[in-house]
Formats: sequence, structure tokens, C-alpha cells
Amino acid sequence: MFAVGLTGGIGSGKSTVGDLFAKRGVTLVDTDVIAHRVTAPNGLAMPAIAAEFGASFVAEDGSLDRARMRALVFSDENARKRLEAITHPLIRAETERQRQHVTGPYVIVVVPLLVESGSWKTRVNRVLAVDCSVETQIDRVMRRNAFTREQVLAIIARQATRDARLAAADDVIVNDGRSLEQLDVDVDQLHRSYVSLAGA
Ligand code: ADP
Repeated sequence: MFAVGLTGGIGSGKSTVGDLFAKRGVTLVDTDVIAHRVTAPNGLAMPAIAAEFGASFVAEDGSLDRARMRALVFSDENARKRLEAITHPLIRAETERQRQHVTGPYVIVVVPLLVESGSWKTRVNRVLAVDCSVETQIDRVMRRNAFTREQVLAIIARQATRDARLAAADDVIVNDGRSLEQLDVDVDQLHRSYVSLAGA
């Protein structure tokens, strides 16, 4: 099935844009939701994580001890790679499984780190990036998550740059100083073009 990869930096407005596609009946497969599920209680990644990192990384309910793992991978790039070697194939497989069950003219796969994690671009037919300035990202995420400016900057620093994302994108939704109504018009146009591309 024709697939659009929806990406953007933290706070760019991916969820907001995704909702506008969903409103039009398009199914979204969200790799962030799947990533969370594989490390939830009894998640598919948990046995391998316990074997690789030890039982101390498993919380009492059988989910990943996120705070502990975050602290480890923040300072240890090799640990991050070992974790991703476990989770990424499971996330990819589950994403593919969900894609098989989608009905409708096309599917949107939400991949926040599409540009960062190489192979995703080849798994979709088209890349849609939601774009805004770094200042807007900081402003939104400080409000939404009650993070400090430094916390948001640290997250942004680990993500692809705005230019890299724009270079990878086939389509861009500009989400700076735009109302929801304006975004809705953009989404409507893109939706029509994706329906047409999917049928071609
Ligand atoms: P992402 O999913 O990329 O992290 P979100 O869609 O959650 O970003 O948007 C981040 C925050 O900014 C949310 O609280 C959202 O409601 C708000 N937001 C995003 N776009 C707009 C906009 N055009 N106008 C007003 N608020 C917006």
C-alpha cells in the first residue's frame, strides 16, 4: 500500500498534523506508540532487554525502567546502540504487521526519527516533514511538557537538523505562526495528492 512517512522534530506539530489526516479517515501507524508498547509490561523487547542489561532495568510491573535506561543511554552511546539493536527490529516488524491491516487509499507511518534512522526513507513512498523554527519548538515543548529550555535543547540536539529533515522531505507543511484552519487547508491538499498518487 502507498505509504507516507510523517516526520518532524519534537514539537514541530506531527501529532497535530497527523490528527488532521486521521479526521479524513486515513489510518496512522505510529512508531512512537509501537516503541512504547514493546517496552511496556510484557512488551516484546523485555526478555531481550533483561538478558542484555540485567533485571535491574526491568520495573516491578515488567516494563522497562525508563528513567534508569535513559540515564544509561544518555551517557553511553554503545548502550544506546545495544538497546536499539533489540528494539528497532521489533518496532519495524510490528509497524510492517500493522501496515498490512490498513484499509483505505494509503497509510501514514509516523516516524519522528525518520531522517536519523536511515532505512525508514526506503520503506515509504513519500516523506512529509512538518517544519518550524527551533524557537517555536522550544516554546511549544516547554509549554506542553513543562520542560526547561535546556531540556528541550538537549532533545533537539540529538535529533536531525531542520535542514537535514527538509532535504529528506518530498512534502513540507510549514507550522510556524499558522492556525489550525490553515494547517487543515494544507492537509486537505496533500490528502488529495496522496489519494491520487496512491491510485496511479
Ligand atoms: P509533535 O507531535 O511534533 O511533538 P505536537 O503536534 O504535539 O508536536 O505539537 C506540539 C504542541 O504545540 C502541542 O501542544 C500542540 O497542540 C501545539 N501546536 C502545534 N501546532 C500548533 C499550531 N499551529 N497552533 C497552535 N498550537 C500548535
